[in-house]
Amino acid sequence: MIAAEASPAGLLLRAISAGGIETCFQVPDFELCLDIGRCPPGAERWPTLLLTHGHIDHAAGLPYYVSLRRLYGYPPARVYCPAASVEPLRKILAAWTELQTNSEECELIGVRPGDLIPLGKGRWARAFASPHRIATVGYTLYREVKKLRPELQGLAGPAIAARVAAGEEVNVKEERLELCFPGDARIEVLDWEPATLRARVLLLECTFLGEGETPAHAQEGGHIHLDQVAARAEQFQNRAVVLTHFSRRYSVEQIEEAVASRLPAELLARTWLLTHPSPAGPGRLAPAAPAPAR
Ligand SMILES: [Zn+2]
Repeated sequence: MIAAEASPAGLLLRAISAGGIETCFQVPDFELCLDIGRCPPGAERWPTLLLTHGHIDHAAGLPYYVSLRRLYGYPPARVYCPAASVEPLRKILAAWTELQTNSEECELIGVRPGDLIPLGKGRWARAFASPHRIATVGYTLYREVKKLRPELQGLAGPAIAARVAAGEEVNVKEERLELCFPGDARIEVLDWEPATLRARVLLLECTFLGEGETPAHAQEGGHIHLDQVAARAEQFQNRAVVLTHFSRRYSVEQIEEAVASRLPAELLARTWLLTHPSPAGPGRLAPAAPAPAR
């Protein structure tokens, strides 16, 4: 399936997600994929893959990703995953190698909550624990940005230029939380990991929204229900909250209607929806509210 493309809060994403079917986010600014789904077209070009957990809709494309990179002459990828998933994934790659040589050509690295993953060019990721049904880690993507020292803000351009010419360091380095992706998770992930609420862009699974499926049902399955997001609407400080991983039992229209009617206006104006692809075409990654609201 073809990924949808858009830039919530200015961060380009190529994304595909439908609960139980396939989830993969390509983040070109960080040259990586978050989960690999069934390895949608183009995902193989990114040298780093951050896997949240080993469920098939998030990880099935791993051998294909590794193999395509070899086919196209890219160097072996660095693949990060929960430490508990390393051995099962290694076995899967080894089995493919029996059938087709060198499907193991990647660096498979187990991560634990708190681990930092260097991504080069002043970028890094940090892993955190996510509450799901199996071992799961989420990832926050950080970038180092330079900002004018607070005491110099308000000075005119020539005055700053004079200080630079005199050899003064006028900037301070700051870390910016660009994106947070808990993977599949229960709603408590918002309490477990403060970055979920602070990152510029939050990719938040919202598997269930129907009245037939209650928040208790979502909780039991290790997922999130739309009502739980609505109940915590005031907590989100993100510039954009992208709701993803909707169950295929809902039509795109049902998703759009439910989100528009249940989220308060202030959060709705910052909410994006990633709807699932259909045989008729790719899914959409688009603002949940009509354009005038943003
Ligand atoms: Zn899962």
